[in-house]
Amino acid sequence: MNAAAHYDIAIVGGGLAGSSLALALSQIRYPLSQKPLRIAIIETKPFTQTAFSPSDGRHLALAYGSARIYQSLGMWDILGSKAYPLNEIHVSEKGSFGFTRFKAAAEKVPALGYVLSLNTLQETLIKTLQEKNHIQWFCPDTVTEVRRDNNVNFLQLEKGMTLSAELVIAADGANSAIRTLLNIPIETQHYGEDALVTTVDATQLTHTAYERFTAKGVIAILPISDTRAVLIWTGPSEWIAHLRQMDLQVFLKTLQTYFGYRAGKLTNPGKFHVYPLQLIVAQKIVQDGVVLIGHAAHTLHPLAAQGFNLSLRDISTLAEMIETRISTGKALFDLQWLKAYSQLRESDQKTIIRLTHRLRDLFSQDLFPLKAARSLGLSACDLFPPIKSALARKAMGIAGRLPRAD
Ligand SMILES: Cc1cc2nc3c(=O)[nH]c(=O)nc-3n(C[C@H](O)[C@H](O)[C@H](O)COP(=O)(O)OP(=O)(O)OC[C@H]3O[C@@H](n4cnc5c(N)ncnc54)[C@H](O)[C@@H]3O)c2cc1C
Repeated sequence: MNAAAHYDIAIVGGGLAGSSLALALSQIRYPLSQKPLRIAIIETKPFTQTAFSPSDGRHLALAYGSARIYQSLGMWDILGSKAYPLNEIHVSEKGSFGFTRFKAAAEKVPALGYVLSLNTLQETLIKTLQEKNHIQWFCPDTVTEVRRDNNVNFLQLEKGMTLSAELVIAADGANSAIRTLLNIPIETQHYGEDALVTTVDATQLTHTAYERFTAKGVIAILPISDTRAVLIWTGPSEWIAHLRQMDLQVFLKTLQTYFGYRAGKLTNPGKFHVYPLQLIVAQKIVQDGVVLIGHAAHTLHPLAAQGFNLSLRDISTLAEMIETRISTGKALFDLQWLKAYSQLRESDQKTIIRLTHRLRDLFSQDLFPLKAARSLGLSACDLFPPIKSALARKAMGIAGRLPRAD
């Protein structure tokens, strides 16, 4: 390898997770010199695709706790102005009497969450990062080799550069190359399901998000304005392929049959985007001088809208712990503190991964006893405020130990 340019931290992958962590780290200063950390971001897509592409149709339901994290990073004024607040979430199952509603007022929060376009979030993060001259982008480029020598990681980039860094962050997505290069095993489950994402006009939107479990998958309607909403229909891949090929009027009729009319009449669908769904969980998220975050650490089914919210809590805690290491003059590569980070995040990660996976399993079977139990479960949840509140606070990312958020 050539002589290496040295960084405190190298982040591989400049997607939502990588760029959010870079933003959090950009605020850390060395105590005496007040110098910022030297950060490298290696991103395989050119900027035009990473930040400014309209090709990703996803909108994210950002939990209230995630909005607080972005607020602590000084980003919420701008992100909040582009996001649509959710005051209520309504969960039901087609053909069953049970339903439950979560309300912001009952939880005494200004909103349960906010709906924001993934492109807008990504674009805003990258524009902010590009203004910071202690962050260097290697883009488009990729890592072909990781070598560790004397507590330093050496990254060989495809275009010929060699970087060295005390800490490497793998934020390179579900098929993480860093995870593979380091032989970190994963647990994976192919659901045989896809998510179809589009937008629709809706005549009755009132800051309410709907989630409806049906025999043909889960339909979520998330408002993005007073008249337009994102539709996310997750279900068996053959069914999603069938929906995709339908004449638009037939599609809308099918949608209305399965979803009902709670959001009024649904019309004028936008472009269809399809995402394959699987569960991927890295069997460890730290090793000597390396941390996995975002989809590289855990890729979840989107039915509970928890994937990135969980990652953001990981990121916030990691940045907080890095700040403490820097302020006390301690090394970043040390495996003991990396393990302490992993342990601190373990309970939240396990709970959300299990909850999402079991929820998907529970609602994917149409057997009568299960359906009756689900209906009772939804009603019980609605009738017992403490259960509902505990669930709401977990989903909002404000239960248990919280990352520092203000
Ligand atoms: C349909 C759908 C709806 C969702 N809705 C929600 C929601 O409402 N709420 C929520 O919290 N979450 C949601 N999620 C999850 C959320 O989208 C993900 O958690 C998030 O996008 C993952 O971001 P990431 O940065 O970890 O990964 P990615 O977005 O995959 O980013 C990885 C980055 O690394 C780059 N890269 C890849 N390989 C390399 C390499 N070898 N070298 C350098 N760079 C590399 C890629 O180009 C990319 O920029 C949803 C997911 C889906 C599929």
